[in-house]
Amino acid sequence: MALQSSRIARLNFEFINKIMARKKIIKTHYKAKPGRRVRQSAKLSAGKKKRGRPAKRKTRVIKAKRGRPSKPRKPTFAKIRIQAPRGVHDILPEEQKYWDKIRTIVSQVAISYGFKRIDVPVFEDINLFIKGTGQTTDIVQKEMYTFKTKGGEHFALRPEFTPGIVRAYIEHGMKNLPQPVKLYTLGPVFRHNKPQAGRYRQFYQFNFEIIGDANPVSDVQTIQVFIAILKKLNLKKFTFYINSIGCPLCVPQYKKVLVSYYRQHLSKLCFDCERRFKENPLRLLDCKKEKCKRLANKSPQILDLLCEECHNHFKEVLELLDELEIPYILDPQLVRGLDYYTRTVFEIWEEKGDALGSLLGGGRYDNLVEMFKGKSTPAVGAAAGIERIIASLKKQDIKISEKEKPKIFLIQLGELGKRRGLKLFEEFQSKGIKIGEAFSKPSIKSQLKIADKEGAQLTLILGQREVLEDNIIIRDMTSGAQETVALERVFQEIKKRLKK
Ligand code: AMP
Repeated sequence: MALQSSRIARLNFEFINKIMARKKIIKTHYKAKPGRRVRQSAKLSAGKKKRGRPAKRKTRVIKAKRGRPSKPRKPTFAKIRIQAPRGVHDILPEEQKYWDKIRTIVSQVAISYGFKRIDVPVFEDINLFIKGTGQTTDIVQKEMYTFKTKGGEHFALRPEFTPGIVRAYIEHGMKNLPQPVKLYTLGPVFRHNKPQAGRYRQFYQFNFEIIGDANPVSDVQTIQVFIAILKKLNLKKFTFYINSIGCPLCVPQYKKVLVSYYRQHLSKLCFDCERRFKENPLRLLDCKKEKCKRLANKSPQILDLLCEECHNHFKEVLELLDELEIPYILDPQLVRGLDYYTRTVFEIWEEKGDALGSLLGGGRYDNLVEMFKGKSTPAVGAAAGIERIIASLKKQDIKISEKEKPKIFLIQLGELGKRRGLKLFEEFQSKGIKIGEAFSKPSIKSQLKIADKEGAQLTLILGQREVLEDNIIIRDMTSGAQETVALERVFQEIKKRLKK
């Protein structure tokens, strides 16, 4: 029976061999154990066919490979070099103290001045910005990140906050709330401009808006909020510039005067200003190129041509600033780069003309809500660039203190110490007591080193023996004195020692 079955097996084996040889796959698919004799298939061993009796089939011996058996190969991956896109940046852990500080101060000041937080989408219908920010602005003409969806919708990444906030004000019927509505926000905005110091393609702004009030008090309160934030950040050196650019009643008259002035100097204008001359002559005053700045300095001033209402409005803004002892510089060339501004416009610079650019800017926009099918609603707002404020803080060597570090550090030793330590760490968390740890480090030396570096006053040492005896060691990091206490008393003991 056994003989028969081994014959069947041999026949099967030969049959399979033949088929595989015919398909020329025997070499790759069949592997015999080293040392075994295998019969080569007819096709592989025969060579040329001879007449008469079929040639005796040759056998070959599979030799064992020398040396150690080869290890399975590690998979290899094609390496691609990936970098952040140009003009965008990471905010690394060591930088976060600046960001935390600014976020905290912004929200504290917002609360004390009665502003409520709003968050609007990162992308919106492209027309919101074309209409809102303005067709003739650099932002819309050159700097917007736009994209079409598969469904054919056309969106833009927000290049600024104001149009989105105004859309939200209208969409959510905020006109029915007690006016004015005071809103603030903070987050990234996107502009595809030429990256350079202080100019990014994704940067962060905080933004304050007062919607629903034409009174100069709102202009001044917007200014006050930003100055309060800069002061709370201890920023010492900054200058506040202000101007009024009138309203649709007085601006046309001023534009005429401006155009006739610039017509005499057309050949001296830069390429962009030639376009501005035709599309929006007010923006000629905003050009950063040296030769255009020289022309702007000698241009007629809008303050001389304001209508009576705009004149009185601006006068009152300045009087209130005087009242509050907020120093300002009247800057007749200040027009801002956005189309929607009316009357008051302002900027704050660390130093005017600084390569870093302005720290913040804003103004009144009395017609924007109406432009988006809302009813006539005066408004004022401003935005500050967080990266530039941080750059200024660093330049002025203003120290931002780190968040308070834990005064206690937990050291665990051995498997038992680690397990019990994890639980104890959680107990500290639920009691709201800050405690440092280095669970990934096994040795006492390395853990003590970290505790020391982090400035811990006390370390709690939990080894195998302490766990078995329900104890813990408390070590005073200054004196080096150690005491073993019952684990259940650890919280009381710590409180007592930290009070001293
Ligand atoms: P704007 O929205 O153009 O009125 O700008 C308001 C503030 O945003 C400026 O005063 C800057 O602090 C900041 N800002 C504007 N553009 C950039 C940029 N490309 N990179 C970094 N910050 C910017």
